[in-house]
Amino acid sequence: MTDVKRSALADALRERYLLERELGAGGMATVYLAQDVRHHRRVALKVLKPELAAVIGAERFLLGRRGMANTYRVPNLEQDLDFVGTNRLVQLAGVISLLSVAFSCAPASSPSTSAPRPIAVGACHALQPTSVGGPAAPPATIVLRWLGTANYEVTYKGKVVLLDAFIDRGPRNRPIGVAVKDMQRVDVILVGHGHWDHVADAATIARQSRAVVVGAASAIDVVRAAGLPLEQTRVVEGTGGELLQFEGFTVEPVLAHHSILLPDVLTKFREALTSVDSGPSQDEASAEAVIEARGSSDPTLGDRGTLAYLLTFDTGFRLIWLDSAGPITEAERSLMQRISRTDVAIVAYQGQYVADRQVAATFPLVKLFNPAVYLPAHHDKLAGLFLDIGLEPLFMAMRHDLPETQAMAPLYLSPVCLSAKPDQR
Ligand SMILES: [Zn+2]
Repeated sequence: MTDVKRSALADALRERYLLERELGAGGMATVYLAQDVRHHRRVALKVLKPELAAVIGAERFLLGRRGMANTYRVPNLEQDLDFVGTNRLVQLAGVISLLSVAFSCAPASSPSTSAPRPIAVGACHALQPTSVGGPAAPPATIVLRWLGTANYEVTYKGKVVLLDAFIDRGPRNRPIGVAVKDMQRVDVILVGHGHWDHVADAATIARQSRAVVVGAASAIDVVRAAGLPLEQTRVVEGTGGELLQFEGFTVEPVLAHHSILLPDVLTKFREALTSVDSGPSQDEASAEAVIEARGSSDPTLGDRGTLAYLLTFDTGFRLIWLDSAGPITEAERSLMQRISRTDVAIVAYQGQYVADRQVAATFPLVKLFNPAVYLPAHHDKLAGLFLDIGLEPLFMAMRHDLPETQAMAPLYLSPVCLSAKPDQR
């Protein structure tokens, strides 16, 4: 870039970054050392050449530059650019924070664009979910966000899928950072099973966003009882032959099994928790009772009401999600005999309290789904019931026995951006 353009660049970025010096330049971009004003740290700022920004678009460039972390590794510089894995394109934007600002730097004489304008990187940078008005997924990208418990938001090609809908979790749980009333942009809600900590907000979100709710009969009974119209619901069984078509992806329900919790252990654990934190106040208990009433206690929920869902995107990319960690079922086995691997598996890590027992429950499911990327779910605190449970024992088991699988644990709201191209293992 010329000095003039660099000066214009510096002006354009001044509120967010102060350029210090050029670190290097390649055919497509120039990299600068800069101060991140907001976060008080030094970052590498990759600036796409203006003529290329116009042609290929900023976000495509961002996703297409695997290996840049090595190219521009700078001593003593926080590694803000860190593509995870070498044989697949994975970005964990919550960790990466700043990745790249493409700079549409028009010639000074251009009448139409007199001032340089940075192009935001969109959903892979923002913490705001698409469902509450955040940016849509960039082209050819699947964006996943953990929204606490077993909830994930999946966005692709302008569509928004919620996996479970338990957002208002009551006064004693950490807030996720989004409010049910703001979740106005949702196309599909897949409910793993009908317990309150999975389905409680499905009817409200579906009503305000006009989303379709998919689930087993026991889960759909809950949203119907809350007044959701029949035409906004789909009852599925997961025993084979069901394939729901949506724009850009299909959904195949697969009959799973709920985690097996020992009632005696649950009771004792609840008592122990109460003795440590004194339990809920009267107001808290009332608020929790309202939430817990928005769920099912159908006794068939364990072996007929718990579903995994396989999402297959129009690129062939496969995501499987399972919100409870029970014994492997015939339907799950038969699915994996057919497809042999997945690109992403999200499997619950909850219910057993002790790491060895929890790994014994979750790991066989992850192994069966044979994913390129594993993301955990349901491993956070649920007041009076579950504690935050450390993921390291599971991740260690995976590193040992599934070395090809990349495990990562995103924070609430942090986008995980994946190329929609299937992993080519
Ligand atoms: Zn459950």
